[in-house]
Amino acid sequence: MDCPAETADALRSLLSDQDPPDMVVPPVLANVRHECGEGRQRALPLRERYEYSEDREWAILWREGTCRRCGMTMRSEGRIVRVSERPPLTGRVAR
Ligand SMILES: [Zn+2]
Repeated sequence: MDCPAETADALRSLLSDQDPPDMVVPPVLANVRHECGEGRQRALPLRERYEYSEDREWAILWREGTCRRCGMTMRSEGRIVRVSERPPLTGRVAR
């Protein structure tokens, strides 16, 4: 069964209501290199974010990160998943 449209909309708005990032990145990347001032490349680690729907049956997940040096923000597209099939990452693998 697919995610009900109403639930999907509610989940997507959790993401779209936030400030837009400086850069949108592919959802598979856990690390993105960026130009970090003075022509230096620096890797920015992206953490997974996981937000449940109201009934906690569905969730939207995405990755995001902010560079502590230059303040650049990155965020991936959101992906809607069924919680039973793709639970949140926990512990070490979530980093
Ligand atoms: Zn930076």
